[in-house]
Parts: sequence; structure tokens; C-alpha cells
Amino acid sequence: MQDVIVIGSGIGSLTAAAMLAKRGLKPLILEQNWQPGGCTSSYWRKGHVFETGATTLVGLDDHMPLKFLLDETGIKIPTRKLDLPMQVHMNGKVINRYQDIERWKVEASKHFSGDQEKFWRVAYGLSQFVWKASTRYQSFPPAKTVDWIDLARKANPMDVLDARFAFKSTQSIIDKSDIDDPNFKRFVDEQLLITAQNRAEEVNHLFGAAALCYTNYGNHYIDGGLINLVNPIIEYIQKNGGQIIYRAGVKQVKKVNHGYLVETKSNTYKSKYLISGIPVNNLQPISTDIIRKSVHKKILTSRQLYSAFQMGIAFKPNRSFESLHHQIHLEQPLTGTNSRSIFLSLSHPEDESRSDDGSLIASISTHIADPQNTQIISEEIEEAILNVLEAHQFINKSDISFQHSSGPKSWMKWTGRAFGFVGGYPQYLKTKPWQMVEARLDHAGAYQCGDTAYPGQGIPGATLSGLIAAKKLASDWF
Ligand SMILES: Cc1cc2nc3c(=O)[nH]c(=O)nc-3n(C[C@H](O)[C@H](O)[C@H](O)COP(=O)(O)OP(=O)(O)OC[C@H]3O[C@@H](n4cnc5c(N)ncnc54)[C@H](O)[C@@H]3O)c2cc1C
Repeated sequence: MQDVIVIGSGIGSLTAAAMLAKRGLKPLILEQNWQPGGCTSSYWRKGHVFETGATTLVGLDDHMPLKFLLDETGIKIPTRKLDLPMQVHMNGKVINRYQDIERWKVEASKHFSGDQEKFWRVAYGLSQFVWKASTRYQSFPPAKTVDWIDLARKANPMDVLDARFAFKSTQSIIDKSDIDDPNFKRFVDEQLLITAQNRAEEVNHLFGAAALCYTNYGNHYIDGGLINLVNPIIEYIQKNGGQIIYRAGVKQVKKVNHGYLVETKSNTYKSKYLISGIPVNNLQPISTDIIRKSVHKKILTSRQLYSAFQMGIAFKPNRSFESLHHQIHLEQPLTGTNSRSIFLSLSHPEDESRSDDGSLIASISTHIADPQNTQIISEEIEEAILNVLEAHQFINKSDISFQHSSGPKSWMKWTGRAFGFVGGYPQYLKTKPWQMVEARLDHAGAYQCGDTAYPGQGIPGATLSGLIAAKKLASDWF
């Protein structure tokens, strides 16, 4: 009999497992892959370390979920803080996304018309509220009396003023601000796509503001890749009596007296509690009737989701770069996709652990809509991406020593995720924050976290979902 079985070793699962290990439980993590981390991880190929998915890292400032996890557990993650979090390349110009909000307002006013000062003042204020609220209100969304009591105890009545932005789209705020600039609209849409997985019409401005101000918080780089974010968390869990088993894909979950039976291909495990860190799309077909029913109405279809086309490149740079992260806006959709931008992340030039031969490592990704019904021709997209990179003088094809790419099918294999969809559930205006997938799956000991649960987007969201799942499990049973 295990204390708690955790399905998957993504950043959401690992956060929940670490927080439960801190409380004295001994989590057993079952991971279908041969290594941990899912979309937040790294792998060796031909003498280079490539990131599996995520490349940007935010969440280490005060009140943010990752900082909360590290403070609670004492886990240490050495990072390099980036001076210039991102550059956006559009219309032949380079827009510097400075972290300092005052500097960023001046930069935004230089590139876009309308009252940029006011737009970003409001957005930044909201983002501060979102982050402070995120770790303070871990009972959100409330589903039981105990959650309401916890919220009432901590609530500040003034928070209602900020919370009302959950009813308004980012687009409506742009319209109200009289910013009638098509370039600003394009800028906001593509920025939201990488942080909220949807465009300004569909993202509520509470989350939209936090997503747009992503670069106004500390952005960090971890030497050796994001596997070095994941490994210390696993070490902590193991040190506290937990265990992780690889190549142990969960095939079935059953409810039995006082717990759950969890079946893999070769074993059956029993536990008192269950944490699922896999997408609800994956959990539903292998789960109990109650869990199936509880998530049924929340499941998004392939048409509402994205996968990613990703390229990993090792190359010898012929220039230096002001920032590691670049969003490149395209005049025409990228050949073979509907994407209007690509995202490029570079390894840190002083990080010698990313390549045996001193190459710089580039990770490039772009969205693929409706992955189940979209055919992609990898060679065509790779060529189109390389042409964009050459045109923007990032990489010459002749400087490349190794390149490879992956699409929805690779994501299905690597993470097991339905249709290879990644990046989390996109924001949709009709789904208010309190209507997203709640951590409690059956009110009997099973919990959900990861990037399909509240608020689950990107590393900060998935980490927060893990904190919430652990907190709700603890408040329900201890
Ligand atoms: C290309 C790309 C770029 C991104 N860029 C960023 C970024 O720059 N910054 C950022 O913050 N976020 C980024 N993200 C998003 C971020 O990586 C993810 O949202 C986050 O890592 C998801 O974590 P998770 O815990 O929800 O799940 P996952 O990472 O999907 O982990 C789930 C784990 O469960 C395992 N699993 C699945 N099914 C089973 C099963 N049946 N049994 C056992 N194990 C199973 C999988 O193998 C996987 O290891 C990016 C994502 C992608 C794909």
C-alpha cells in the first residue's frame, strides 16, 4: 500500500509530490517515459543537450509558484538571471522586452500608438495581483466549505476590483484604451499565444495581463537545460522516501476500498491517494466512472488545442546576441503551418555543458493548431524556419552542425499526450478561472494537476496546479 501514487513526472506532478513528501507522505511516481520532466526537460543528442519543450523560466520572484515550492522544500536551483528577457522582431524592428516596467513602457510607446503607459500600468498592476493571489489563495477554485473558509480568511475585499478583469477580454481592454494600432494587436496576439495559448479576444484580461507581463518578472536560465530544474526536485522526493519508476505507463485506475489500484503493463500498485499529472484527455479513458464524469464536460477537443513543431539546432554563431529569447513575427504564415510567429531560444554562451564541441544550441518552436487533423511535412517546415532565421541573421545554414525536428507525433510518443497537444489548455473567455478543471477529481482521494488543470499554463501555471493539488489533498485528509 503506497501513500500516494503520482501519474507522470511533469513539473505539475513533481511539485505536488515534493509538497506531499514535505508533509511526510512517500509518493510513488509512475512515468511512462525513460526520463523525467515531460515538456520541461532536456535530452542528449549527438553530443548536444536540447530542451524538450519549455525554454523560458519565470516563477522565482516573491509570491510566485516556483519560489514558493523552493522556499517550502529548501530545494536549491542555481540559475542565471537574464538581463534582457526577450526581443520581439516585427516589421523590420527589434522590440526590447525589458524587465523593468518603466523602461518597458517607454519602449512600448516608441513602437506602438495609443496610451501605452496606461495599458501597461494597468496590466502590470493586475499581474502583480495575479501572482500574489496565486500562492495566497491555494484553495482556489473553491469546491468545498473548507476552501471557502480558507478564502474568506485570507481574502482582501479590494481584490474584487482586480478580479472583475476575469470577465473582460484583453481585446476589450485594448479597445477601451483607444489603442487603434494593428501592429499592437498583432504584437499582443502573438505574445499571448506563447503564454496563454490563445489570442486577445479569448483571453480574460486577468490572466492576459499576467501573460503579457511575463517578461516583467525575473527570467532565468539553468545551465545544462531544464532537466536541472527537474532533477533536484526528484532528488528531494527520493531523499524523503519517495520513489520514481520509469517506463511505467499507467494503463488503468480503479477505485477500491480505502484507495486506488493503478495498473501499468507489468504491475499493479495500490495507494490511499492519487495525483494525476497527465492531461485530463489522457486520464479520462483509463479512469474510474466518477472521475470520467467529473472531467467529461471540461475536456477540450483537438480543434481547441495546439501542438508544437519544434527544431533543435547546434551551430557556431557568427555574432553575439543581446537576448537568449526571440519571438519573430512573420509577414505571411510559416510555410506548412498557420503560424504567424516562431519562437527562438538560445543556450547561454557561457554554459559549456550544452554541447561537447562548443556549439550554441537553438530551440525553435511554433504552434500547430488542431494537431489531430493537421498533417505536417517536417522537411518543408524545417526549411521555412531556417529561411526565417537566415533572413533575420540569427543562423546561417552553413554554420549548422546538427539539426532535428519534432511534431505532434513525437509529442505523443515523448509525453503520451492525446493528439500530441502541448502547452496546456488555452484560455477561452467562456471558461472563467473558477470553471477550469478543479484539483479534486472524485472527492474521494484523487486529484488533478498539470497544464490542463487550474491554472496550468507553462511552468508557473503547472507548478501552481501542483501546489494546489497537494494543498487540497492535505486539507481534505490531514
Ligand atoms: C514547445 C514548447 C515550448 C514551451 N515553452 C515554454 C516556456 O518557454 N516556458 C514555460 O513556462 N512553459 C513552456 N511550455 C509549457 C510547459 O513546458 C508545460 O506547460 C509544462 O511543462 C507541462 O507540465 P505538466 O506537468 O502539465 O505535464 P507534462 O510535461 O506533459 O508531463 C506529463 C508527464 O506524464 C507522463 N505520462 C503521460 N501519460 C502517462 C501515463 N499514462 N502513465 C505515466 N506517465 C505518463 C509523460 O511522459 C510526462 O513526463 C512549452 C511547451 C512546449 C511543448
